Amino acid sequence: MALRKVTIEGDEVLRKKCKEITNINDRIKLLADDMIETMKKESGVGLAAPQVGVLRRMFVAEPEPGELYIMINPVITEEEGTQESTEGCLSVPGFIGLVDRPMSVKLEAQDIDGVKHNYEFTGFHAVVMCHELDHLNGILYVDRSKQTMTEEEYEDSLLETDVNEEVDI
Ligand SMILES: [Zn+2]
Repeated sequence: MALRKVTIEGDEVLRKKCKEITNINDRIKLLADDMIETMKKESGVGLAAPQVGVLRRMFVAEPEPGELYIMINPVITEEEGTQESTEGCLSVPGFIGLVDRPMSVKLEAQDIDGVKHNYEFTGFHAVVMCHELDHLNGILYVDRSKQTMTEEEYEDSLLETDVNEEVDI
């Protein structure tokens, strides 16, 4: 396993649509391992393949410590409700945004063995999955954000309002 370099906004690899993974070969398995290691090292709760420069439909996520997902060719099949999330991104360092996301989603994806699973996520878990899936379509949270601010501005705003703590997805 090895750490990979995280791509930063401005790199065009973050703006392209990723291709399906048709063969989960050793290269893809190694990529998944490296992405998990990189996500943990960077203290993120999710990391998508284009964030390490690979245009394939895969992301890893750990919305709760120890609750690890490898999502290959993920598709959101249903969305319900709305919530306002406070999001950061390892590829957009130093900024925080307020984003409207579905309250819950149904998601279908293959695991690292190619087995298809159907998931249901709500709340913060749903935010993480939507954020990561956007990366596979070249979308960053700043495209959807109602308000984007620097981390300093965000911390100041916390003194005035009661907002959720930010995380890097
Ligand atoms: Zn991100």
